[in-house]
Amino acid sequence: MLLPTTTVGSFPKPDYLAKARFQFSKGQISKTELEELERKATREWIEFQEEIGIDILVDGEMYRGDMVTYFAENFKGFEISGLVRSYGNRYYRKPVAVGEIERANPVTVEWFKFAQSLTQKPVKGMLTGPYTIMDWSFDEHYSSRRDFCLRLAEVVCEEAKDLEAAGAQYIQIDEPAISVRPEELDLAIEAMGIATQGLKAHTLTHICYGDFPKIYPKMLEIPVDQIDLELSNNEFDLLGLFKKAPFTKEIGLGVLDVHSHRVETQSEVISRIEKALKIIPKEKIYVSPDCGLKTRGMEETKAKLRVMVAAVKEVRESL
Ligand SMILES: [Zn+2]
Repeated sequence: MLLPTTTVGSFPKPDYLAKARFQFSKGQISKTELEELERKATREWIEFQEEIGIDILVDGEMYRGDMVTYFAENFKGFEISGLVRSYGNRYYRKPVAVGEIERANPVTVEWFKFAQSLTQKPVKGMLTGPYTIMDWSFDEHYSSRRDFCLRLAEVVCEEAKDLEAAGAQYIQIDEPAISVRPEELDLAIEAMGIATQGLKAHTLTHICYGDFPKIYPKMLEIPVDQIDLELSNNEFDLLGLFKKAPFTKEIGLGVLDVHSHRVETQSEVISRIEKALKIIPKEKIYVSPDCGLKTRGMEETKAKLRVMVAAVKEVRESL
């Protein structure tokens, strides 16, 4: 099938879950009660993706707060700081490495198995990459960023192997931080090599928008099968780079602007896909939103995804 549809990972949490997470943080409900609602929300998102006809599903990350802190909380060797401002009015708890990083138990595998048990379609295993975990954490233990990052890569690889053993056909290892520090691209590539070593599953990474002219085409050396990119928020400017140096991997083509509340029209999405088809072979294109959708409203998210799937259907018929 051409142009398989997927999403980058996160979906908004329904109101009942946002409320339950708050109550849990205040000690008003138990972990078991919270997890029950996380499973309910996961089931609803799997059903929605099935209903609209997405091809490669995600669990929606109902059990996560932040993509880095979540892993740090579940790895040994990290402590979590108080709230730190990231950008705008967003705050998060920053992980601090205080000892050797280790994975005591699988972190995401049970969630993967649960989500995969709800559907015949493939569900992606979703991990945060070693470079991004390193870059978004404080380090009080390792002697260099490289040592810290490469140790994380080994730990991420253990988790990826367990996901693969649990049946994950696609393993996505997100590295949103890569595009903001071009000077460390070599390290990010080396770390991804360790994180994906020995995997037979289809591997992909999502990189958020950033200084692509400085990391392209070198970023094609990241050892994964597919790179998923934000293209819509810059009106597909990146395609200009791909004209100069061909995009040699599969691409996850971001066709929905996740920073905008406006729901794209079907013809807008079609024209974005058609622009890419002029430059990248059709066999290499997967279609997805620009980034995770967790900051969008429920209805907005659903409306955008419906448009995306309908647009892909229409383009497929013309191929
Ligand atoms: Zn992103």
